[in-house]
Amino acid sequence: MKRIAIFPFLLVCLAFLAAGCGSDGAYPKKKGSLRIVQYNIGAFSKEIENSIPMVAAMMKELHADAISLNELDSCNARHTNNQVADFAAEMGGWNHRFSRAMPYREGAYGVGVAVPDEVLSHLTVALPKGSGSEPRACCVVETPRYVLASTHLDFRSEEAAVLQAKIINDAVGTLYGNSEKPVFLAGDMNFPPDSKVLAELRKDWTVLSVQENSYPSDGAKTCIDYILGLNNKARIKVVGSGVPVDFEDGDVAIASDHLPVYLDVEIRKTPFHLSRSEKSLVAASDSLMAVMTVSDPEDSLILRRKSIDFSDKDLRSKEFKDLAAKMLFTVQDPSQDGVGIAAPQVGLNRRVVCVQRFDRPGEPFGVYPNARLDSLFGEKVSGREGCLSIPGWAGSVPRYQNIIVSYTDPKTLERVKERVEGFTAVIFQHEIDHLDGILYTDRADSIWVETR
Ligand SMILES: [Zn+2]
Repeated sequence: MKRIAIFPFLLVCLAFLAAGCGSDGAYPKKKGSLRIVQYNIGAFSKEIENSIPMVAAMMKELHADAISLNELDSCNARHTNNQVADFAAEMGGWNHRFSRAMPYREGAYGVGVAVPDEVLSHLTVALPKGSGSEPRACCVVETPRYVLASTHLDFRSEEAAVLQAKIINDAVGTLYGNSEKPVFLAGDMNFPPDSKVLAELRKDWTVLSVQENSYPSDGAKTCIDYILGLNNKARIKVVGSGVPVDFEDGDVAIASDHLPVYLDVEIRKTPFHLSRSEKSLVAASDSLMAVMTVSDPEDSLILRRKSIDFSDKDLRSKEFKDLAAKMLFTVQDPSQDGVGIAAPQVGLNRRVVCVQRFDRPGEPFGVYPNARLDSLFGEKVSGREGCLSIPGWAGSVPRYQNIIVSYTDPKTLERVKERVEGFTAVIFQHEIDHLDGILYTDRADSIWVETR
């Protein structure tokens, strides 16, 4: 039954994509999605006298809905106009905000945001300068539907850029970490995807844009421009991303030394709630739930899918309490004798894990909805693991011994961050991997059949 349900849906999706999803041009945009563009514009007008109309025409051609701009002049001796204001006017009377990173030649220099939407609030987060570098800023603009932050991190010192990323994490996380509103951070981060700078940002954000080379604009060689999404309670779906180079109305090599990067997202207005079939799966199970195994193709589909969060309403529901109680019963049943279990293992692609706390007196089990690994510390150590979904096998898996895990407290509905060490940290990593469709065999040094 499941396969029949999946394939027609996929065909509809593919037909929709092939049709260009309702928008013309070289970079089709799915109808109803929001297209965010990150563009380090290199202080406009360096190659030609006034590049603002050309760049605005390119952004219209791209069907941009919200734009983050870096390296903007404002009323200084190099450019006497407020560049983001003039750009927003060219876009057809858009709203705009400028955040000053530093004084520059009798005026200012910084980053900005241009949006057609109403601006509800604007915040400038000052970022300290690295040794010998320039001070930086993050321009945070809230609109009714989303928040867009624009930044441009230090380019000389990775250490300075990491510190700037940390300040952005703290400032934006404090404001919007518990919000259901989507928050995007767009910027020239000046460092590649495998850098410490991106590792710092990934503690609170997910890189959503395609990681393709964006600099220099004439034959790009490095990937340093990104659009990220804050890991909060927002419901978004990425439906496209790219680094466009072909425009009818402009030349990317003249417009800036960077290429623009775009991200298309669908914003879901209301949180997902437990579906009728999910509720009936929980209700139909005895206290002991059936455990999905990799030997069954339909079970494998569930085990390999990424799971989604519970809404606050779900966490207050009778069904969630029922599910948690049954998962706890199942993992502790002598037939399983487990130390942890994740919801996909009992047939639900929902983010909840049960973990035995060997780090607490009495070694009790705990229930952790909307669980995520925030930070991983130190060296990995290999240890033996088994899995209820891969019966008869075991493996040696390298895992971090020291982690920070975050989850929603099922009672208070507050987001909790907790440091966990040792074997309990290993169990958390194994179980949270299940929520992302990852099995220990994907990470194992070796696996073997258990003979006993
Ligand atoms: Zn497992």
